[in-house]
Amino acid sequence: MSASGEQAEEAAGDLLATAEARARLSCPSCGSSHVAQVLGDNGGVSYVCTACGHSWS
Ligand SMILES: [Zn+2]
Repeated sequence: MSASGEQAEEAAGDLLATAEARARLSCPSCGSSHVAQVLGDNGGVSYVCTACGHSWS
């Protein structure tokens, strides 16, 4: 009974996390959502806006 309720909460949490990740992937310079994820020199992840060319990490 309570198990199905917990599963629903987990699914909602996944959706929320996805929404937050997508919201983060917008260019801080121009606000475009056309953002490419690239690997940095030190193995970290950086982002590049394909609309204005701004890059950040
Ligand atoms: Zn941009």
